[in-house]
Amino acid sequence: MTLRLQNVQKVYPSGFIAVNGINLDVEHGEFFTLLGPSGCGKTTTLRMIAGLETPSAGKIFIGGRDFTDTHPRKRDVAMVFQSYALYPHMTVRGNLGLNLEIKGVSRAEIEERLQNVARMLDITLLLDNKPGELSGGQRQRVALGRALIRRPNIFLMDEPLSNLDLKLRERTRTELKKLHETLRVTTIYVTHDQAEALVLSNRIGVMNAGNLIQVGTPQEIYDRPRNVFVAKFIGTPSVNLLNVSVQNLAGLLAIRLTGSEKPLGSILLPVADDVFHRLGPAGTQLILGVRPEAIAVLTEAHAEAVPAEIELVEPMGYVNNIVLRFGKDVQTTADGEPLIAVVTSSESHERGEKAWIRLRPERLVLFDRTSERALAILAGERWEGV
Ligand code: ATP
Repeated sequence: MTLRLQNVQKVYPSGFIAVNGINLDVEHGEFFTLLGPSGCGKTTTLRMIAGLETPSAGKIFIGGRDFTDTHPRKRDVAMVFQSYALYPHMTVRGNLGLNLEIKGVSRAEIEERLQNVARMLDITLLLDNKPGELSGGQRQRVALGRALIRRPNIFLMDEPLSNLDLKLRERTRTELKKLHETLRVTTIYVTHDQAEALVLSNRIGVMNAGNLIQVGTPQEIYDRPRNVFVAKFIGTPSVNLLNVSVQNLAGLLAIRLTGSEKPLGSILLPVADDVFHRLGPAGTQLILGVRPEAIAVLTEAHAEAVPAEIELVEPMGYVNNIVLRFGKDVQTTADGEPLIAVVTSSESHERGEKAWIRLRPERLVLFDRTSERALAILAGERWEGV
């Protein structure tokens, strides 16, 4: 079932604008994630889709029909909450079947659907247990089962994995993805966990302060962030933000770290026609976003590399996070965070060593210093305007 939000807004009685006019089209069978920090309006948006909150303005269409003022029960959506919300005095069987019983579905059909869902979620042996006798992961599967058994047109999930420990969260995440691949029910998923969003979603909508900032596939959001907020929110370790200035060197873009004479790394690359115009005159101060994997850490001086010192090596198993500090003439990062490179663990680096930093020509983004909007992105072998 498709879902359309048309200029949907929520102003709470206090006057607080929790959702600030969102437009969104979700395709049939899509797994769509609303991602953003705490308080950005994700849950409010989800509750408006469920019919648990009334929008202050705008319209909600499900399958092309206007459902804005329709009672939650008539929307044919099923919501899964972070808190499971299971009835403690009922068995798993009772919890799963309750909604269908209320709807007057026959006992035989309830039993058939129940067995199907239990098999799918691997909870058949738990059907006669009560929620108090289950682990967190098992409870969450029952909560999912209770939504699945209704065969809704749309699943709404509000941080359903956040009560689970890390290992269980990863496993349930995989199960959820498999389940969606099998059932292909349109799913709107809310989380503040960017890894969860990247792994699960067909598309992600990044929210901040009531606004939908960017919608795209996980790869688009990672590679082509629309602004500094999106770039910082996606990816661990976080993107590095460097103060730089740019210059047109015979049609190639030269980038210099503020305070350094040398052009930075191998990014003397061709530029699409309109890019210089977008970036402003030579010497304009910009922010360069560099993913940690786009920084090469050299152990010898190089013409296009900037000297730095290794402050810390964090082994992560197959890669190491290298925390770096520039020499004293060069400003630190634009946001005061340490500079971090991710390199394969076969490279040996030690704390306190001298190093030279060179940028790989991949996933680099230039942002306006004031508006923090992306101006140009290094796409393949050349810079393009955004
Ligand atoms: P979290 O991940 O913490 O749940 P969220 O992105 O889901 O955050 P919402 O629950 O949608 O955020 O809340 C958005 C904003 O609206 C928050 O600042 C919250 O304090 C405010 N808010 C939520 N419910 C009400 C209410 N009933 N009255 C006034 N303000 C509210």
